[in-house]
Amino acid sequence: MIRLFNTLTRQEEAFSPSVDNTVRMYACGPTVYARAHIGNFRTFVCVDVLRRALKHVGGHGVRQAVNYTDVDDKTIAGAREAGVPLRDHTEQWIRVFREDSAALGIETPEETPRATDELNLRAMGDMILALEKNGHTYRRDGSIYFRIASFAQYGRLARLDRDGMQDGTSVDVDEYSKDDPRDFVLWKSPREGEPSWDYGTGPGRPGWHIECSAMSLRLLGAPPIDIHAGGIDLIFPHHENEIAQSEGATNQAFARVWVHVEHLFVEGEKMSKSLGNVYTLSEIAARGHRPSALRYLLLSSHYRKQLNFTWAGMDQAEEALRRFVDFLARLDTISGDSTSSRVGECVTRARADFRAALESDLNTAAALAAIFDLVRDVNAAIDAHDVSVVDAAAVRELFDEFDRVLGVISLRQAEDAQPPMPVEEIERAIQDRQAARQRRDFAAADRIRHELADRGVLLEDNPGGTRWKKK
Ligand code: AMP
Ligand code: ZN
Repeated sequence: MIRLFNTLTRQEEAFSPSVDNTVRMYACGPTVYARAHIGNFRTFVCVDVLRRALKHVGGHGVRQAVNYTDVDDKTIAGAREAGVPLRDHTEQWIRVFREDSAALGIETPEETPRATDELNLRAMGDMILALEKNGHTYRRDGSIYFRIASFAQYGRLARLDRDGMQDGTSVDVDEYSKDDPRDFVLWKSPREGEPSWDYGTGPGRPGWHIECSAMSLRLLGAPPIDIHAGGIDLIFPHHENEIAQSEGATNQAFARVWVHVEHLFVEGEKMSKSLGNVYTLSEIAARGHRPSALRYLLLSSHYRKQLNFTWAGMDQAEEALRRFVDFLARLDTISGDSTSSRVGECVTRARADFRAALESDLNTAAALAAIFDLVRDVNAAIDAHDVSVVDAAAVRELFDEFDRVLGVISLRQAEDAQPPMPVEEIERAIQDRQAARQRRDFAAADRIRHELADRGVLLEDNPGGTRWKKK
């Protein structure tokens, strides 16, 4: 059984879903005002590994929602600066996020709601009205606030001192510090240059926190949901406020297990846009690294430990992946037919160790160590001519099992199989070269061949025509 560290209890707990075998999980998604950086992607990759482990180690079904925060202080400011409507502005960043996620091998969740979808805004309006009915709100200057003094459990997740809470003082901004817990805004009064809706609360727009409360319960069904996840910075105020809103509105527990991913750091500081120390996938590519190496790096340490990003770390990740891929290629060369118990034992041990590591609060570092042990032992057995075709198939099968959870080796192999340049461009160049040869301009034809070779594409002339392959 998988054990997970629950931020709510500060303890590791055996996990199983509450209703049937399907885990209902919500993870806070990106605020779509810029390209997500690799710190954000540490959280999304770890949540993806959690999702895969729940399926392939826990044997559960998963119903996961990851939202796009497409209306908040930052998205509105971004759209205004760019001079485009909010939804157009956020749409482009959603597209980039989807591309980057796919490049990093992140599985698409079952639900990817946008906060400004009509059904979601309606659910937010309904939740605020329920909170109003239950006596958790007040109105001031056209905005609606959550009165934290009305909710006795406020501060339980973040372990706040109730004495520090300031009754009746309110905060309008989405983000604020833990030293300053105040009544937070649920619905903001209309302002010049801001979008405005009315779903029963009066005109205005939602605060950030109400979005996740309303969307998670709308999409995942009756509370409590099984798992709520996000980066560690979201514990306060975002998740504390989500609990207050959801529980204040439904009078039921909101989420059973809270999973928080530690930060990615650069030179001792949290990677964040406001500090200006961010890298995106394009900087990773510009340094000659592929997304699979970043995925490897991000999952190579335990999700609850801080991880310091360095280029040397990226080189090591490349090296580790190369070892895996070379090892799999070596397995393909095996032709012996005497099955040895030695490899069988290695396979059994590695399978058990890998599983135990992931069951232990998703210890991916230990899971990778189990794979490296297997690689070392099987390499030694191959050196001793002690591996058969059947053994090799069993090892390969185990690697497939590993990779269903880690999603990194298949990603590297898919990258390897990708053409070095767009196929249409290659085909156009082949046609141009053909035309040059027909008009007997062999210098031009050669030039095209060389240009393609420089870009990693080799041409092979056959009687049936010209074929290309990767260099
Ligand atoms: P945002 O787009 O700012 O709402 O953040 C999206 C997700 O990335 C949230 O779950 C954040 O907690 C998480 N996040 C932000 N910065 C980092 C970081 N440096 N390391 C890991 N996760 C982060
Ligand atoms: Zn959220």
